[in-house]
Amino acid sequence: ITDYEHKKILVLGLAKSGIAAASLLHELGAFVTVNDQKPFEENTAAQSLLEKGIKVICGSHPPELLDEGFELIVKNPGIPYTNPLVSKAMEMNIPIITEIELAYRVSEADIIGITGSNGKTTTTTLIFNMLEEASKNPLIAGNIGTVASEVAMKATSENQMVVELSSFQLMGVDQFKPHIAIITNVYEAHLDYHQTKENYAEAKANITRNQTEDDFLIVNADQEELLELVSFSQAELIPFSTVRYLEKGVSIKEGKVFHFGEEVIGLRDILLPGKHNQENILAAIAAVKILGVGNDAIKRVLATFQGVEHRTQFVAEVNGRRFYNDSKATNILATKSALQAFDQPVVLLAGGLDRGNSFSELVPHMSGVKALILFGETADKLEEAGREAGIQSIYHVDNVEEAVPLSFNVSEPGDVVLLSPACASWDQYKTFEVRGNIFAQAVHKLKQSQ
Ligand code: ADP
Repeated sequence: ITDYEHKKILVLGLAKSGIAAASLLHELGAFVTVNDQKPFEENTAAQSLLEKGIKVICGSHPPELLDEGFELIVKNPGIPYTNPLVSKAMEMNIPIITEIELAYRVSEADIIGITGSNGKTTTTTLIFNMLEEASKNPLIAGNIGTVASEVAMKATSENQMVVELSSFQLMGVDQFKPHIAIITNVYEAHLDYHQTKENYAEAKANITRNQTEDDFLIVNADQEELLELVSFSQAELIPFSTVRYLEKGVSIKEGKVFHFGEEVIGLRDILLPGKHNQENILAAIAAVKILGVGNDAIKRVLATFQGVEHRTQFVAEVNGRRFYNDSKATNILATKSALQAFDQPVVLLAGGLDRGNSFSELVPHMSGVKALILFGETADKLEEAGREAGIQSIYHVDNVEEAVPLSFNVSEPGDVVLLSPACASWDQYKTFEVRGNIFAQAVHKLKQSQ
């Protein structure tokens, strides 16, 4: 732990992570100034930080601010290095770190870091649940739960910090070193943020940059590119594969999961549907095995875990139809993997914000879809894709609430009803969570009426 007492520190950016970092540093005795581009009135946390005794400067990022003589800057990853204040700080050789770096430096617990294009939250939650089931003392940070630096503050050496890491957060880390690092997969998502595919992949590789031979790196061995990307790593490599048996790794053979030759669980005893979730499960098993979790605890979690909310989450069964909420599927890729998860006939509920793309990529994956129920701006485009896939039953409704009873009427026992919109929610719903909650409520209402 570095000593922050009486240090003059500037926190740039007042998002959730900036607020947590500022509060943490303040508690550690630093003299903290926070600076955000948005005006004071629009920063909901500004007033409470001010009341704590933190200096708050809002409205712009004035380079003159640096004249105050800061010894450290904690920068939100969203603020580019080309920002005049940031580039001046670099010229002045003021160390610039990110919130995740701060969390690492402050935490006394070992860190289990999870990154990847898809499956981060699911894998993070699985690891947390398995550690808890085995009576360890995990703390969770990331998309669900609290920000890493907030968790780091209370973490002791008895804890395990399970941290979900976006590639965004992994940009600009310096000494950050998880004891166990996981990369679930790398796809060409998020290109708008990282500009090039290389930058994005590089950011992911940062998760293992500082690891040594005492650390572990768990990666998807079904992605050659990914193995190449991390070939420089010093950590002990633990590969996982959903398609071929690995003597030295975690994989699947004859319907069972094996960990270095030992059988862990049969696939039929796992509640989470889909091949994509198998990736997440294998990665989670690899991680918790390092920490001494037994097969019984792993089995208990996998037999009961219904999925993270809004991520191909099982909601309820109504007269033989199984309803799943995958509202988090805000793009085609996510809906594609959700569709691949089911062998049963699917009634798909989809549609939402129109980003101008076509849905032709979905066509080859809709062979199991028996009916489409569409809403939102993209309804017509999705109908086009559905027709191309040869789907006869296509319906238009006003919203998710209306879609649910209709889905019941057009389905039969044994079918799956899946909300996986392939679109963002903002044309009709404030967030994907709101959309998913409305779906779940409508399903429960339907169940009661039966
Ligand atoms: P993330 O946190 O990386 O966004 P989540 O665990 O929240 O990932 O899952 C989001 C959606 O992505 C899921 O609903 C599912 O459709 C899809 N998904 C989850 N895991 C994987 C995976 N390993 N590969 C491909 N798609 C996945």
